[in-house]
Amino acid sequence: MTSGPIPSGSRPCAGPGLPVRFAVLFLPLCLLVLGGLYAYRSLEAAGRAETVKARQMGRVSQEVQVLETALAASAADAAFLADMTSTLLREAGERAPEDIAGVLWSFAFVNRGYARIQYLDASGVEIARVNLHPQGPEMVPGPRLADRSDLPDFLEARDLPGGSVRVSRLELNAEDGRLDAPPTPVLRFSSPVFGHEGVRAGVVVLALKGDLPLERLRLASAVPGGPFLMANAQGYWLLGPSPDSEWAFQLEGRPGGTLKQLWPGAWEAARRDGQGQIPVDGGLLTFDTVTPGQGYTLGADLRVLPAEEWLLAVHTAEDSFNPPPGPLFWFFSAGLAALLAVVSWFWAQARLRRDQAEARLREMATIDGLTRLFNRRHFLETGQTELERARRYGRALSLIMFDVDHFKKVNDTFGHDAGDAVLRALAEAARDAMRQADVLGRLGGEEFAAILPETGLKAGVEAAERLRRAVEALEVRHGEHLLRLTVSLGVAQVREGENLDGLLKRADQALYEAKNSGRNRSGFAGS
Ligand code: GH3
Ligand code: MG
Ligand code: MG
Repeated sequence: MTSGPIPSGSRPCAGPGLPVRFAVLFLPLCLLVLGGLYAYRSLEAAGRAETVKARQMGRVSQEVQVLETALAASAADAAFLADMTSTLLREAGERAPEDIAGVLWSFAFVNRGYARIQYLDASGVEIARVNLHPQGPEMVPGPRLADRSDLPDFLEARDLPGGSVRVSRLELNAEDGRLDAPPTPVLRFSSPVFGHEGVRAGVVVLALKGDLPLERLRLASAVPGGPFLMANAQGYWLLGPSPDSEWAFQLEGRPGGTLKQLWPGAWEAARRDGQGQIPVDGGLLTFDTVTPGQGYTLGADLRVLPAEEWLLAVHTAEDSFNPPPGPLFWFFSAGLAALLAVVSWFWAQARLRRDQAEARLREMATIDGLTRLFNRRHFLETGQTELERARRYGRALSLIMFDVDHFKKVNDTFGHDAGDAVLRALAEAARDAMRQADVLGRLGGEEFAAILPETGLKAGVEAAERLRRAVEALEVRHGEHLLRLTVSLGVAQVREGENLDGLLKRADQALYEAKNSGRNRSGFAGS
């Protein structure tokens, strides 16, 4: 469709304004760049979390192996002393008790990790006993040796096959029903002894200072990654979240509960799987099981029978393996967004300026600066298009040419500016008098034309008359003067096979005749 005359005062159309252009570039760009940045950070954080998880699993497994190795060594010590005692019983005759006590003392002298080493005979009576004091081992004299037949270490080890070692619970040492003061944890290894002809001859008991494995774990807790926790088979803390939560199965009134109470889900998983990782209250619990005597080839004859297993665990706070984006990330993102905003703003500005310049050029090429009607060139181009359309569809089309009467007088009397004002007012009035589909143009000077599609000669003349009367009624204020004007018009309807040039000539002729026959009137070219 033909674009109608451009309303006076309208700005050249240069597309959307600056804010829209800015937003259209900035928002997707921001989304892309910052989204990408966030996705990258998330991926990287996920990778880091995996590393932390693997490292924690490694730490726990390593400490389990360290503990199991130490326990295996003590089990071997117990088996060795039981075997040594059996040999002395068979070979030393009368002197056997003293020789056995001497061997136990020598052993305790070089192995300061044992709080106590005992040999109990087949009825559970102490035959030899060495206690370790800070200043060294003490061989307990005969009068202080006692009947220990009610000791679980004795009862559960005396009937074991040779080379077997029973490992007690890790617990606070109690003798004669009373806990040591201060309480001292021990882990006891007991192994059966055999006399002449393989007759059962009692048990050797080694009480390992329980502080040793616990101290080792406390040292290992000092490195980054969180402290180690250890619970026994009932879930009681051996190494707890706080020292006063420990040994609750032997000490009255300990707060803090058990691992089972603290993390029931983790407890279940640990009992079921033995080893693994499970989320617990905003963090991750990494756990593994310590089984005394498991996983080691201690020798063909040695069998270790642990009373219980322990659960070794470490709690990792969520923040340490999955930290939320820090201030640096947000600072960097904000900086990047600001940079994108600046770039987008300048880009949008440059684009707008370019589009505005293009629009101005386009306008200058098509619009008449004074009247804002189509200029001559653009009018002729548009007219040609309309003419072809009318011809193609066999429709009527008329053309009106009009010219201001005695315009020279206006210029001469009131000045060129007054003439310009009259031309502008005329263009405005013509625009109002024409239909939307009509094409109005300024052919030059004070001469105008309008193409009326779908319009025959009769309707064309009517339109011309309408325009003439509108102009006649016009009052143009210029300073203190009120100017009036008239136009003469010539109308022609396009003929079969006629081109725009021919049509213009006939309309011009009709206009000429209108001038000649007195002006302020419409003439028409016969069809
Ligand atoms: P007629 O009734 O025979 O048309 O008489 P006329 O005076 O209107 O015709 P003529 O062609 O003698 O004069 C036209 C004048 O229009 C001459 C020229 O100075 C003036 N003119 C042409 N273009 C412009 C313009 O853009 N502004 C002004 N103010 N005057 C213009
Ligand atoms: Mg004139
Ligand atoms: Mg003229």
